Amino acid sequence: MLVEYGNQIGRRLPDLLSLFSSCPDPRKRKEYRMEEILMGGTSMFLLRQGSRNNLNNKRFEETFMANYAHYFGLRLPHQDTVSDVLNKVNPEDLELVKAKLMSRLFEQKWLRPYRLLDNYYLVAVDATGVVSFDKPHCAHCLTRKSKNGKVAYFHYVLEAKLVTADGHCFSLASEWVENPCGSFDKQDCERKAFVRLAGQLKKHYPRLPMCILADGLYPNNTVFDICRTNNWKYIIVLQDKTLKSVQEEVDLVRLRKPMAETYKVQNGTRISSKYRFQTYIAYQKHKLHWLQCVETKTKDVPKGDRNTTKPAESNFEYVTNIEPDKENAARLAAGGRLRWKIENEGFNTQKRGDYELEHKYCRNSLTGLKNYYTLLQIAHMINQLVEKSKFVMAIQKEHTKQTIRDIWICLIAYMLFVHPKDKPQIQPSG
Ligand SMILES: [Zn+2]
Repeated sequence: MLVEYGNQIGRRLPDLLSLFSSCPDPRKRKEYRMEEILMGGTSMFLLRQGSRNNLNNKRFEETFMANYAHYFGLRLPHQDTVSDVLNKVNPEDLELVKAKLMSRLFEQKWLRPYRLLDNYYLVAVDATGVVSFDKPHCAHCLTRKSKNGKVAYFHYVLEAKLVTADGHCFSLASEWVENPCGSFDKQDCERKAFVRLAGQLKKHYPRLPMCILADGLYPNNTVFDICRTNNWKYIIVLQDKTLKSVQEEVDLVRLRKPMAETYKVQNGTRISSKYRFQTYIAYQKHKLHWLQCVETKTKDVPKGDRNTTKPAESNFEYVTNIEPDKENAARLAAGGRLRWKIENEGFNTQKRGDYELEHKYCRNSLTGLKNYYTLLQIAHMINQLVEKSKFVMAIQKEHTKQTIRDIWICLIAYMLFVHPKDKPQIQPSG
């Protein structure tokens, strides 16, 4: 497993350490090199430690430290030392490191087969809560007053993540939703943050062909304008009460015969999907296309079994600037539905999969909080490469009941108890 970290970093992210090392160093006195500090923070997430304390406790174990030095080729600093530096590093510098790592993945072309219609990378956009306090935390906190008059102070972040059908979910850019210093009329919000996030996406990936996937908050003129200016495609959820004029135009189309149909059987369930679409609907300065997928799932039951369950029907509707037709409707709708990956494979994994996204890694510094967040994104990127490597997939195939978490528990046990000088000679690949 530890060898696999070396394999994946060497193959996919060969300049990880040099990018860490070139990150501007805010310190005067330096006991550790910058790459040791940043890898020290990243490794807390890589090794699924969930808190600074957990990793610090392992620093007392000589075998653990020897393994860390052997496999990562670096010294592991105390997490207080890491935190002191992260409180001072400019978050934009670390965000740039993350973007350069992602650019390397795009250059290698292995992500190309995941593109929609062989052209557009699917980029899901959504926001998630990161930390919440019951007292003011910093000058940029957002606030919310509950019915009982209590005020919550919190931070959340708007993410743009590359999503793929087989569950990759890589952070491309992160934009914090936060209030400005001093007085202001209205608090910052997800919609305003999207304008800034789009600027970051364009800056870091200027020529990347992408298709933005977003929820029902996003079908609006600002988003359509930004996508047109940047030459991006979009597939955005259309909810009941949004874009009234568009809704009126498609009301009758919903009653018509489907224009395309697909049918498949998955784990004993028959899934039939019916597609309807309407092209070139005028909406202010834009022409939109509407796409609907009505999916019916029927559980396959043996003949004569009376316990038949009622078919379950779901309705998905989108507005898009990719013209739907009979041939591509199913692929467009499937692309639109990958938006869910940012919630499941993205936020839920990072909150519950031992990354502990909502843990207060840094209570007293917003800068530190942002930098820990970026290191978590980098660690999640690396871990996805390791988890989807042939080596780890083979372990999971062989031990079907073993979860990713179980594998990492074994990895930590190995680091604690098997000294690198006694290591068995295994050369995994993939
Ligand atoms: Zn704050």
